[in-house]
Amino acid sequence: MRVCVVGSGYVGLVTGVGLAELGHDVTCVDIDARKVRAINEGRPPISEAGLDELLERHVGAGFRATTDLAGAVAASRVTFVCVGTPSRPDGIIDTSFVEEAVAQVGAAVSAADRGHCVIVKSTVVPGTTDGIVTDVLTRASALQAGVDFGVGANPEFLTEGQAVEDFLRPDRIVFGGDELAVAALRELYVGFVGVPVVATNARTAEMIKYTSNAMLATAISFANEIANLGSAIGRIDSVEVMRGVHLSRYLTGPDTGTRTIRAGLAAFFEAGCGYGGSCLPKHVAALAARGREAGSPMRVLEAVAAVNADQPARLVESLRLELGELRGRRVAVLGLAFKPDTDDVRCSPAFPVLELLLAAGADVVAHDPVVGAEVLEGLPGAGVTHVGELTAAVKGAAAVVIVTRWAEYGALPEILAELDTPPVVVDGRRMLEPSSVARYTGIGR
Ligand code: NAD
Repeated sequence: MRVCVVGSGYVGLVTGVGLAELGHDVTCVDIDARKVRAINEGRPPISEAGLDELLERHVGAGFRATTDLAGAVAASRVTFVCVGTPSRPDGIIDTSFVEEAVAQVGAAVSAADRGHCVIVKSTVVPGTTDGIVTDVLTRASALQAGVDFGVGANPEFLTEGQAVEDFLRPDRIVFGGDELAVAALRELYVGFVGVPVVATNARTAEMIKYTSNAMLATAISFANEIANLGSAIGRIDSVEVMRGVHLSRYLTGPDTGTRTIRAGLAAFFEAGCGYGGSCLPKHVAALAARGREAGSPMRVLEAVAAVNADQPARLVESLRLELGELRGRRVAVLGLAFKPDTDDVRCSPAFPVLELLLAAGADVVAHDPVVGAEVLEGLPGAGVTHVGELTAAVKGAAAVVIVTRWAEYGALPEILAELDTPPVVVDGRRMLEPSSVARYTGIGR
């Protein structure tokens, strides 16, 4: 099938080359001419495992990039919209990029064959595709949606860092829309043999994407609230609490003789200093905002966000209980990325932790195995010193605060044992064995 992908960022580029790998003929469109040139030269503008090889295999042979949106739409049967949907401060998503792209697509649809389908892959709140997107398309094309052209939503579940693998081996395919759109998407994905498909209407498909992430965020905030209560009561270890909970057959599935802890959902029922990244905070806020707008407040999700917002302060409070006055004390914050194995710092809990420590007058250093000093620019006051080497970062520190569960922090007990005055370890991810260091405290202890 001939496919046009509008927006060649993470989602668009991975979708484009992934569809080429499935045997489709794909044109990726972007307004950024440099990005287009790089893609056509086989140099992916983003770093994703396996993307270089895939791009090299298909570029110039069934795959290309262009800035000519109208030409690409007119030559295709399906157009995916994969442009960004940033959050506004009130949590509501900003659909202006989607609306702009869709207006251009709509104008081009009138030159395409009848039955062309426009599919929204950007993450948009329920009601966007069959609302504003369809309205803009109808106006721009002067054609009838559902008759002359199809409209649908096909949310993307890929995880940055493993996006290519996630696209080529999906756990599910979710799409919805009018008959034209659903028929085109069924045909497009026919190569994914054995993958469960949920084919529904557009707003249900949109809801599935938000609900999936809201469920994970809820698991995290639930575990954090349990851990906070455990700390308040005292002598309750939240790690053991959750181990005990994870063993429930409701989480592990039917008893097969030897119970194994499921890595899946159970991995999110863990206390820590909160979730971050480009998805969970934004999606919880957007769904809660959509609930307020629809007159159906999302009380659980409002609480999920509030618990999450408090966790960095709880980590700093644990530190204060250990050290007392923080002014002038050297504190090493370990981990800036919102999770290990990525350089993504968007909404990372590291930043509120750093800001609280700076506000308390601490002498703050930060370490991360991949994130550089540039992300620390703009922090208030004296700022934070980035130290590239772990041993140097913890040397002379009164406290070490673990924010990201990087594997290399597992070596801290040996590193700290070499120091004359071992610092207190405040473990925001509960990754170290408490008895492995001289002084330990953590979330939920
Ligand atoms: P991105 O910022 O990496 O890419 C968006 C691209 O669209 C940019 O290259 C931009 O230049 C281009 N663009 C903007 N307006 C355009 C227009 N009118 N015509 C052509 N190109 C245009 O964004 P992303 O991370 O790929 O996210 C895209 C959407 O997918 C968002 O809604 C996001 O929430 C969702 N999503 C992202 C992820 C992820 O992990 N990144 C996962 C699932 C879903």
